[in-house]
Amino acid sequence: MSTIVRFAPSPTGLIHIGNARTALLNALVARREGGRFLLRFDDTDRERSRREFADQTEADLAWLGIAPDAVVRQSDRMDLYAQAAELLKKAGRLYPCYETQEELERRRRLQLARGLPPVYDRAALALTDEERRGLEGEGRRPHWRFHLDDVEVAWDDLVRGPSHVACASLSDPVLVREDGSYLYTLPSVVDDIDLGVTQVIRGEDHVTNTGVQIQLFEALGGHVPAFGHHNLLTSSSGEGLSKRLGALSLKSLHEGGLEPMAVASLAVLVGSAESVRAVASLDELAGLVDLAHISRAPAKFDEAELDALNAKLLHDMPYGDIAARLEGAGIGGGAAFWEAVRGNLTRWGDAAAWWPVVEGPVAPVIEDHGFLGQAAALLPDGPYDGGTWRAWTGAVKDRTGRKGRGLFMPLRLALTGLDHGPELAALLPLIGPERARARLSGQTA
Ligand code: GLU
Repeated sequence: MSTIVRFAPSPTGLIHIGNARTALLNALVARREGGRFLLRFDDTDRERSRREFADQTEADLAWLGIAPDAVVRQSDRMDLYAQAAELLKKAGRLYPCYETQEELERRRRLQLARGLPPVYDRAALALTDEERRGLEGEGRRPHWRFHLDDVEVAWDDLVRGPSHVACASLSDPVLVREDGSYLYTLPSVVDDIDLGVTQVIRGEDHVTNTGVQIQLFEALGGHVPAFGHHNLLTSSSGEGLSKRLGALSLKSLHEGGLEPMAVASLAVLVGSAESVRAVASLDELAGLVDLAHISRAPAKFDEAELDALNAKLLHDMPYGDIAARLEGAGIGGGAAFWEAVRGNLTRWGDAAAWWPVVEGPVAPVIEDHGFLGQAAALLPDGPYDGGTWRAWTGAVKDRTGRKGRGLFMPLRLALTGLDHGPELAALLPLIGPERARARLSGQTA
């Protein structure tokens, strides 16, 4: 059976790096196994779901390099859920309940006071037809609960190994609200069956749902997929990430100028058996995913680590991978400029700051006119290449007896106006003989 996985966000906010972990684990498993990756929007909650969040999620995935094989919206599939609900009603597994939130809350408090687990007592099952009619006559509308079998549901989790949920200690879950809308539990199973999902890879906050959902798969006569529950990412202070926070959203990381592969590398490798490192392509990252060796502990996500990964990716990035972006930003200089500055960058956009150092005008910082005059006299005519700097500074050293910082810093200050920056061996050919000569003599050029 060929692999079919899905990423199923509710479009109620911007997706963050923790959601990216789920999306990437699914997409990379599909990539590695030659399977299909579905993007499913769990948008049955009409009030909170927004099309713009769904569209942004698609854009975020595209930025990461993930192209779903299909996009599915639950709001387009309501008939399927109605059919499934009917089937469950006929089988006696979906039953109407009329309690209000306040009544349920009162019962829960009573159970807790008696030292009992606050599990729904199935009182609604005992209602007679007449009592039901009476309640509906009062204007009450039913919500519908799934009658769980009081068994222990077991599965071999792709991440956590042998796992089980004791369903006797759970309340029968509400699948359909008073207003006829569906909670997440049933539509998810209906879709997983209908779309032939083979592996459900999601966060460990869904472990209990899995116990319930396996019963639903069976009640609906569907094939039960494999399940894998990965650890969740927390902020560096240990808090859970929330769509509502906005911080660490993929959109803000993108707008902050980060490389998608820096985000993907960290999202996938943190809290796994692999060391966190900058991986340059999704194909390579796919080869490192090993669900069975994801750590059980929550994985702490450290933003500072992102900067380091980002810098590493840039330092090794071939010009061809960035040419279009540099051009779009009006940064010239071609491959020679990119190779000169990439080692100094944390964000690619910072390259823009080095372009004026090449093109000018640069106001040179002159500390010692005499020394710079001697250096200028030894400056060769063009064209320059990667060896020019070494040959020239060698000659200046021999003539003046200066070495180390005393030799190089006055030259850097004059040529760039700055006391730090990319290797001058690489910058000098870009600056060229005319500008170099002018700057050594103190002219802005
Ligand atoms: N919409 C659910 C969520 O975002 C999907 C969970 C699942 O993958 O089944 O948590």
